[in-house]
Amino acid sequence: MTSPQALRGTSDLLPGDLARWDAVERTTRAMARRYGYQEIRTPVIEDAALFLRSVGETTNIVQKEMFSFQDRGERTIVLRPEGTAAVVRAYLEHNLHKTQGFAKLFYLGPMFRAERPQAGRFRQFHQFGVEAIGSSSPWLDAEVIALGVEMLKCCGASDLTLLLSSMGCRSDQAASAKQLRTRLAPHRAKLCKDCQSRFDKNIFRVLDCKNPACHQLAWDIKGSPFILCADCRRHFDDVRRALRAVGIAFDDTAVFARGLDYYTRTVFEIRARALGAKDAVAAGGRYDHLIEELGGPPLGAIGFAAGIERLLMAAADGAAAGEAAQRTGVYVAVADPALLGRVFPIVQRLRGRGVAASLDYEGRSLKAQLREADRLRCRSVAILGEQELTDRTVTVKDLEQGSQRTLALDQFVETA
Ligand code: ATP
Ligand code: MG
Repeated sequence: MTSPQALRGTSDLLPGDLARWDAVERTTRAMARRYGYQEIRTPVIEDAALFLRSVGETTNIVQKEMFSFQDRGERTIVLRPEGTAAVVRAYLEHNLHKTQGFAKLFYLGPMFRAERPQAGRFRQFHQFGVEAIGSSSPWLDAEVIALGVEMLKCCGASDLTLLLSSMGCRSDQAASAKQLRTRLAPHRAKLCKDCQSRFDKNIFRVLDCKNPACHQLAWDIKGSPFILCADCRRHFDDVRRALRAVGIAFDDTAVFARGLDYYTRTVFEIRARALGAKDAVAAGGRYDHLIEELGGPPLGAIGFAAGIERLLMAAADGAAAGEAAQRTGVYVAVADPALLGRVFPIVQRLRGRGVAASLDYEGRSLKAQLREADRLRCRSVAILGEQELTDRTVTVKDLEQGSQRTLALDQFVETA
């Protein structure tokens, strides 16, 4: 009989992998809090309409990548493909616009996209993201971008490039789309099928297309395809000035856009050399109309999301890997399984004090238990035999320093 296997594009994270995940999750949470962002958790399933209304009908995510199904009430449910729309929905549903107005939120969790699985591209993947809702200040753009860059660096990613652009406001976008259509019209036949079919509805998609031919055509356009009004130009200048003031380097010369419908003004991507030229570790931008489009008041907002799997690839030898090596906790080695009745309560006392403690129930030899302690990366081994239990002492081997000493048992339990 064949054994069941995980679905393509999904992965099991085994204890050996999770040390790095845990380090990244702790670092991203700590960074977000340092910048004043609070955690929010939204459900993994949402009404499909949420993403149609926000991400947009002509986008890859909605057209091809959503896992959807009919529930018992015949509604179309999707496994969330991204975080922004869900966070804005929750912000409005819980009246945060009335009770606090400005909100800085972050999330960490799984997202789902029905993509062709390949390196750095999965069907279930994880994102850390932030959303700052209720302000149009360019300083906020700089804050969010700085948080993105610093967070990635802190997790051990290096050789990062920040691509920065402004897609302008809605009326700028209408003018830019018209101009881009005119410029690309002679080359329409050279575009991929998707870009051709979205030519009239979502021409910016060409700028975000993975197809090299489409990409090349977009690159051949001289200068930015975006026409900015005076306000948007000022906003973009202010963002760049704020980033320069805090020493965050960026490249604002690339022709680049974000394919989702909700973006306005500032958009950015952070790439890592380790991932190659085409895949970003993190991406985001402003979405100044989304709150209104989902039924709320007109409020400016900006956010980004970083893919944790790609971040771990970009940080392969970095700090995130380093933390896993630390030894913690005690392995309580039992000389004879007949003593378990007396040792088990001692282990529970240690755990009760918050000390990680492990022990063997299988009657393995002391040597095997020491090997196990090393494999589990325990900091020390406490050896308990008949003699020790009678004398209320314990022999403690420090696995980090290789030293050994005998202590009073109660003192050890109280201070370990
Ligand atoms: P791409 O252009 O690589 O398809 P995207 O524009 O679809 O990315 P976003 O929706 O902006 O990506 O998501 C932000 C980040 O989430 C990406 O930069 C990436 O790190 C991660 N990400 C997106 N899709 C996947 C996926 N299928 N597998 C793993 N990570 C992903
Ligand atoms: Mg994608």
